[in-house]
This record gives sequence, C-alpha cells and structure tokens, in this order.
Amino acid sequence: MIGIGYDVHRFKEGRPLILGGVEIPHSHGLDGHSDADVLCHALADAVLGALGLPDIGFYFPPGDPSCAGISSLKILEKCRQLADEEGRTLINVDATLVAEAPKVLPHREAMRINIGQALGIPPQRVGIKATTNETMGFVGRREGIAAMAVAQVS
Ligand code: MG
Repeated sequence: MIGIGYDVHRFKEGRPLILGGVEIPHSHGLDGHSDADVLCHALADAVLGALGLPDIGFYFPPGDPSCAGISSLKILEKCRQLADEEGRTLINVDATLVAEAPKVLPHREAMRINIGQALGIPPQRVGIKATTNETMGFVGRREGIAAMAVAQVS
C-alpha cells in the first residue's frame, strides 16, 4: 500500500526552523502549534494514508495543549506505533521539500537519520529531496515551506 502526504507552514520570525528534526540556521522559522516541522507532517500523513488511517489532525488535533511545541519526530513515532498495531511494516518513505531557502542538502543526512529512527527504518529507506519554486507563488515569495511525501507499507 502507498500513501501520500502534503503540508505547508508559514514562515514566522523569531521561531527556530526545524526540518526533519534538525534545527537549521535561518532568518525565519515556521509557524505552528507543534515545532511546525513541515517535512515530518507530510511524512506522517503519507504513512497514515498507506495504513488507511485518518490524517495527522485526527491523532494530533490543532490546539490540543498536549501537542504544544512537541517535536514532530514524536508524531512519526506515533505513526510507527499505529503501523505496529495494524500488523503492518513500513518499507520506505520519500519526500520533497519546496522552498526558496535555506539549502537542505547540508542537513539531509541528519534528517534521514532522525526520520529513520522515529519510523523504525534504516536511513537508506528515507528519501529527502528539495527544490525551489522558481520564485513563483507563495513559496517563491518566501512566505513558507511546502512538503510532499509518499510512504510504502506492506
Ligand atoms: Mg503541519
């Protein structure tokens, strides 16, 4: 089974930028109730989709005080737990970040390790890619970061 996930978060000054559980030096962080890790959120929805389960908002409702400021790696750990409960095995995940900045490549390996650990798969099974939006649209105007992801589950 394959699942798809998509998420967007808006840039906000004065917040840390967390992507794939890695804090990346940047002029802005992302706004959100949790740590706003847009990459982990897209991956979580992809895994939940592959399991045929409801989306991330069902398990982590926006505004739920227990989710305030949590690391989104915890959300991925919950997805792994749900897969276990369903008797399913995660095979691989793949994601693309869409952002004009910052550069993702220097942090890619650290992200793969974090995500692999949270999901219980080797980093070699975690794909992370990044592209700009060629300065078009909200991403192009540097208003935020988008992420899309797929997950495969047996
Ligand atoms: Mg989100």
